[in-house]
Amino acid sequence: MDFQIPENLRMMQETIRRFVTRELEPISQQVEQEDHIPEDIVQKMRELGLFGLSIPEEYGGLGLGTLGEILVYEELSKTNACFRSRIGTNNGIGSMGILFDGTEDQKRYYLPKIASGEWTACFALSEPEAGSDAANVQTTAERHGSYFIINGLKHFITNADVADVATVITVTDKQKRARGGITAFVIEKGTPGFYRGTIERKMGLRGSHTAELIFDNCRVPVDNIIGGEPMIGQGFKTAMRVLDKGRLTMGACALGASQKLLDLCIDYSKERVQFGKPICKHQSVQNMLADMATEIYAARQMLYHAAWLRDQGKKVIKEASMVKLFCTEMACRVADKAVQIFGGMGYMKEMPVERFYRDLRLYRIFEGTSEIQRLVIARELTKE
Ligand SMILES: Cc1cc2nc3c(=O)[nH]c(=O)nc-3n(C[C@H](O)[C@H](O)[C@H](O)COP(=O)(O)OP(=O)(O)OC[C@H]3O[C@@H](n4cnc5c(N)ncnc54)[C@H](O)[C@@H]3O)c2cc1C
Repeated sequence: MDFQIPENLRMMQETIRRFVTRELEPISQQVEQEDHIPEDIVQKMRELGLFGLSIPEEYGGLGLGTLGEILVYEELSKTNACFRSRIGTNNGIGSMGILFDGTEDQKRYYLPKIASGEWTACFALSEPEAGSDAANVQTTAERHGSYFIINGLKHFITNADVADVATVITVTDKQKRARGGITAFVIEKGTPGFYRGTIERKMGLRGSHTAELIFDNCRVPVDNIIGGEPMIGQGFKTAMRVLDKGRLTMGACALGASQKLLDLCIDYSKERVQFGKPICKHQSVQNMLADMATEIYAARQMLYHAAWLRDQGKKVIKEASMVKLFCTEMACRVADKAVQIFGGMGYMKEMPVERFYRDLRLYRIFEGTSEIQRLVIARELTKE
């Protein structure tokens, strides 16, 4: 067992930590109020290479392995979650379909633009009738010679408002569906018949938007199928591979936010005096701090271990679901205790704990709910 973080990744971690402290945290509340990340900050994120963490160097990214990527996500998640969300789709769901299953031409055309952040990418799977039951997509792609005509509505699509390109999951054979009837396309903004719909109003994650995408007789060539003609009907596998990968990064987001909350609570509990002593001297508060720290410690071990396994080329379907399940549920327990430790102040908008409490709730829902993670874990356990 080797518990050292390699030197190059440690340096990267330090760089991101400084960027968060100096550039992101000071504008965190402003972004929350304005529901918008200033363009100069997005530009700084581009310059740091944050849009292409996981994209290989040959396609213009930093080519970090899984461990490197989750260390960056952990640091970025110690501030307003919208910053991580802004780069998240380019590093994950918006680019991985092309990277895993795209043709070489598609990789060379799209990935450098996504990795540099020149383009924003999004991933359009969810629909009103297809959430956890992803194979139930109703967006159709009908073949007409060398073209497909796409019709349907996607909703809850992260970064759809700023996206230049979308991975779009459609049904091409309603009988076969997940078994050969789902096809993934890559579709650019401006393609006739492809529009952005309503921006949805959310509980949290201000500064990052989700929106509908509408396809109204949108005509795209066969070349826009991710992986080309041989991948017709294989899009469900592409979508599942993309989501599998995201589960570890979701764990990292939950972990970073939890660590930040613990740090805030330690500081606050030393300063806040009640009954003549700092509240950290009251045993009930100590218990909460101890439980938070213990869970964070456990979460970090499992996350780093699963990332390490993946970097060794091991299959981590079960482990990735365990990480997403445990880390995101743990983060909500931590956020609940953080609000408690801050007392009334924890309920006030001027304190970041209130924001973390709302934002973290999402992590148990998107990229596969906790219930779906349990199904995956149980399926893998009983298969073994
Ligand atoms: C802010 C935000 C951003 C998002 N970004 C994207 C995006 O970029 N791209 C995208 O495609 N999607 C995105 N989503 C959609 C997200 O992935 C779905 O919301 C999620 O998969 C759950 O689907 P649903 O909302 O339809 O809930 P449902 O599937 O309707 O689930 C409702 C409840 O039923 C439970 N449930 C459902 N089926 C089962 C079962 N078989 N066993 C046990 N329990 C079950 C669920 O766990 C949940 O508790 C986003 C969602 C949000 C809120």
